[in-house]
Amino acid sequence: MDYVIGSGPAGVACATALLARGRAVTMLDAGLTLEAGREALRNVMAAQAPEDWTAEQHAMRKMPLSGDMPDYKLSNGSDYPYRAAAGAPEIALGVPGVSASYAQGGLSNVWGAAMLPYREADLAGWPVGLAEMAPAYRAVLGYVPIAGQADALEADFPFYVRPQYDMPVSRQAAGLLRRLERAPGVTAGRARVAVNAPACIACGECLNGCPRDLIFSTRHELARLRAAGLNYIPNAVVRGVSEDAHGVSIHAFTGRGWQNFSGDRVFVAAGVYGSTALMLRSLGRERAEILDSQYFILPLLGWARTKGVQAEHLHTLAQVFVEIQDATVNAHNVHLQIYGYSDVLEAMIAQKLGPLKGLRGLLLERALVVQGYLHSDSSGRLEARLDDEVLRVTPQKNPATRAALKRVVKRLRGLPLGAFPLSPVLQETPPGRGFHSGGSFPMRENPAPGETDVLGRPYGRSRTHIVDSSVFPTIPAATITLSVMANAWRIGSLA
Ligand SMILES: Cc1cc2nc3c(=O)[nH]c(=O)nc-3n(C[C@H](O)[C@H](O)[C@H](O)COP(=O)(O)OP(=O)(O)OC[C@H]3O[C@@H](n4cnc5c(N)ncnc54)[C@H](O)[C@@H]3O)c2cc1C
Repeated sequence: MDYVIGSGPAGVACATALLARGRAVTMLDAGLTLEAGREALRNVMAAQAPEDWTAEQHAMRKMPLSGDMPDYKLSNGSDYPYRAAAGAPEIALGVPGVSASYAQGGLSNVWGAAMLPYREADLAGWPVGLAEMAPAYRAVLGYVPIAGQADALEADFPFYVRPQYDMPVSRQAAGLLRRLERAPGVTAGRARVAVNAPACIACGECLNGCPRDLIFSTRHELARLRAAGLNYIPNAVVRGVSEDAHGVSIHAFTGRGWQNFSGDRVFVAAGVYGSTALMLRSLGRERAEILDSQYFILPLLGWARTKGVQAEHLHTLAQVFVEIQDATVNAHNVHLQIYGYSDVLEAMIAQKLGPLKGLRGLLLERALVVQGYLHSDSSGRLEARLDDEVLRVTPQKNPATRAALKRVVKRLRGLPLGAFPLSPVLQETPPGRGFHSGGSFPMRENPAPGETDVLGRPYGRSRTHIVDSSVFPTIPAATITLSVMANAWRIGSLA
């Protein structure tokens, strides 16, 4: 029996590969789910036309805004994807708004569904290249539905599996794409998002959790895996893994108290913080360094208004991807996701304007928001220390970040955006805030203590595989989850 720990993107991709090889697989998962009342609300709204949704229904699903950005992106008004499960290790994360997930489907219940593969250049410093990752991208995209369109992005970022559908592009985004089509030094295209596109009614509710549950979550994939033979055990929080020459032993807190599970191999996919806590404890190590693809937010103010954006039928996920080459740092890319109107943006603008909120309509018709990601070489890091059973995670800034952001703003000023970047309000968020983090047990050709081999096996272990972003040697700027899934599938198909 092989054990997979976690049902997020890494766990589901790894289990898919193991089952395809005919292995017997049990998935142990903390597995928290959406509260029944909120699930019922979603089902009611899914059956209704958007015009029939009431103000009360909307209010139950809103994201709380206390500072400059939402505290947490919620799922249908619930913070369950970020809640600790009974028996979970204490993880003291020193970054507001960031937390490990103990949910069925992990953070894919709240993610932005943006997906782009890594290029060969992004895998510099990895012991695996595109030759190994390409079949894995193909396998993952065999069941993850990506909406997108053939455009300029394709030369550097192939689809691997050609999308059958696209999402409707907003008028603001269509204008921007037209202007960027021939801009030198950048590659722009339609955002690629993992959504069951044909059923989308463009109701604008994406950021609060799709009422029709059309945004891809690995929670949806459990039915497929169970049909293929997966034994899924929820309410199981793993606290230790050990191995000897004959097999592995897994110590977990379950609905029936503490239990031990024995098997041939274990695949650890508890998300970067969950896996780091579990593996430091299991390996008797004290510290690890977590890499991050640092996240920043930059509003753009358009020269022209796009009248009536608030009434437009649109989705509110990323609309446009822009890839900028940062020649100063090893030809790394900076990845930008551009968002247009959303109710969250409206609430943020209203909060900022205070007594001037009468101006918000005017601003909304001109506002776009860039969410950007830097390569980990230009980003801060997080120090993770296991201190008396508590994983303490402390962000550490990188002096190179500021300069990298200045270069991005300069590049954006030179582009025909039809808008100017509001650089005085650029937000450089702390390391970890963008949830594109990993690298605590990096894969190496010849691993040393604290590192893993190309199959995610920590130094000295032969039956324990870490399969999530914890094994990434670097965190390139392009979205992380497609590569998390591909790498987990690759390890599951070879181990
Ligand atoms: C708001 C938000 C937006 C995002 N947007 C994007 C995006 O647009 N594109 C992108 O590429 N990425 C995005 N991400 C990041 C993405 O969600 C993560 O990269 C991805 O979910 C990581 O998958 P994972 O399987 O490694 O871990 P997780 O999703 O964290 O899943 C961890 C799993 O392990 C289980 N688990 C944890 N600890 C234990 C334990 N001790 N015992 C048993 N089970 C355990 C949990 O129950 C869960 O099932 C976003 C994240 C957030 C929060």
